[in-house]
Amino acid sequence: MSPICGEDEWTTMLNFQVSEEQSALIEMAARFTRERIIPVAAECDRESRFPRDVFAAGWELGLVNPTVPEEFGGAGLGEVENSLIAEQLAYGCTGIQTSMLANTLALTPILLAGNTQQKKRYLGLLTSSPEFASYCTTEPSGGSDVAGMQTRFTQVGDDYVINGEKCWITNASLASFFVVFATSDPATRHKGIAAFIVDRDTPGLRVGKHEDKMGQRASDTAAVHFEDVVVKKENLLAPGGEGFKLAMETFNQTRPDIGAMAAGLMQRCLDESVAYARERKSFGQPIIEHQMIQAILADMAISTEATRLLYQKAAWNLDHGVRNPIVSSYAKAFGADRAMQSAIDAVQVFGGNGYVKDYPVEKLMRDAKVLQIYEGTSQIQRVVIARSLGRG
Ligand SMILES: Cc1cc2nc3c(=O)[nH]c(=O)nc-3n(C[C@H](O)[C@H](O)[C@H](O)COP(=O)(O)OP(=O)(O)OC[C@H]3O[C@@H](n4cnc5c(N)ncnc54)[C@H](O)[C@@H]3O)c2cc1C
Repeated sequence: MSPICGEDEWTTMLNFQVSEEQSALIEMAARFTRERIIPVAAECDRESRFPRDVFAAGWELGLVNPTVPEEFGGAGLGEVENSLIAEQLAYGCTGIQTSMLANTLALTPILLAGNTQQKKRYLGLLTSSPEFASYCTTEPSGGSDVAGMQTRFTQVGDDYVINGEKCWITNASLASFFVVFATSDPATRHKGIAAFIVDRDTPGLRVGKHEDKMGQRASDTAAVHFEDVVVKKENLLAPGGEGFKLAMETFNQTRPDIGAMAAGLMQRCLDESVAYARERKSFGQPIIEHQMIQAILADMAISTEATRLLYQKAAWNLDHGVRNPIVSSYAKAFGADRAMQSAIDAVQVFGGNGYVKDYPVEKLMRDAKVLQIYEGTSQIQRVVIARSLGRG
């Protein structure tokens, strides 16, 4: 007999115990956030500058590329640990944290589809020095419809030639290599898509200007142009027809991290709002005594905890081979949407002070918005979820 409530509930057993190693990792990431990220976050936001020294320090501690297996120089941590780190760093600044996490987005397709030589070379590069890598699917014609990409590859002898343009690419200005998705023929949609690893110094590859963004301004974002870029066959990651599946599986693995970032950002909204509401007085009492402020704070706390549970379940599924992409989409969509609402509410709690840069919450509101956009918008997560429901 099938269970009455969600069958996914029955594929996992409950265990909220944090291991000693996980606890030490959380503590280290939290200390790093307090000591290295928070002190520079406002300045990096103002200057739209990514602090490479912070990245290098985080890399030294193993907070960057944590999921690379030990045989390729990494710590071989799981998705649960990866997202626990993401939550802690996001508390300090989701802009800096996005750029620290973007390597994981780029290296995941290599972990999933790369051969040993590709893993040795490119994962080895990331773990032997503080290098960056970027992941490129989005194009000016649209990011949600991945199968509609226009960037083309043609096979010439044993090699491949790529022409086209990618946009909104995190860390493009800094990356040593790019994981690039391209199609043999846009008319064939997902059936034509392949994936390649392209070295930064390949002739014909040009990185565009650093984007002047609304939020997460400390994270580098730029376009990447490909003009007759020759890629050797050794750097083919997924052949035509396999690239689309690889892109989707990558998102399945990385979307819980966006939930984790949302939880970190919300926890910050909550802590800042509670501290302010205790101090700020109106009508002769601290505003935290007003029931409508209490309701805002309570909703923020509920959202933070619920997002935490969702992203941890999605990450746990990935670590335990439970295939259920819908949970990754739950974590991403719910987390992003609640983070946006919590940041708006944090500004509300601060009143006029929430609207100026002297206080931290206006940055949280600008930073939260992109959580609803990148790695599949909130609408696209609902498309994924509804399609899955439709399939039964
Ligand atoms: C700061 C930042 C960093 C990024 N980093 C990267 C990166 O490293 N690599 C990368 O490849 N991309 C990256 N992106 C791109 C990001 O993934 C895309 O912006 C996103 O997928 C949306 O694509 P789009 O902007 O083209 O919007 P569109 O696809 O044009 O969508 C526009 C609107 O229509 C809605 N919509 C579209 N289709 C549907 C549908 N079927 N049903 C309902 N609504 C729909 C969308 O939800 C959205 O609201 C980044 C973007 C930003 C802003």
